[in-house]
Amino acid sequence: MGIEQQLEKKTSSQTKRVIEYSARYGGVCECGTTHSRVTTSPAWLGTIKLRIHKCQKCGAIFHSTQVDNSSVARQILAEAMA
Ligand SMILES: [Zn+2]
Repeated sequence: MGIEQQLEKKTSSQTKRVIEYSARYGGVCECGTTHSRVTTSPAWLGTIKLRIHKCQKCGAIFHSTQVDNSSVARQILAEAMA
């Protein structure tokens, strides 16, 4: 199963809304709230770190993805898929 299908499977239960995680602002809700609370322990899909957030202001639930593009992460993934 490809990463996109896995992501789809993991996110479809609650919401389709997926944002890009900001190293500076964390999970930013559509209402503009930064550093939204993370509700689950992050899951890794390859080099993508998936988090589920619940906004403490408006209560919206959404997902964020953070890509680890470091050479170390790419090397580990390449070896795992070989
Ligand atoms: Zn919000």
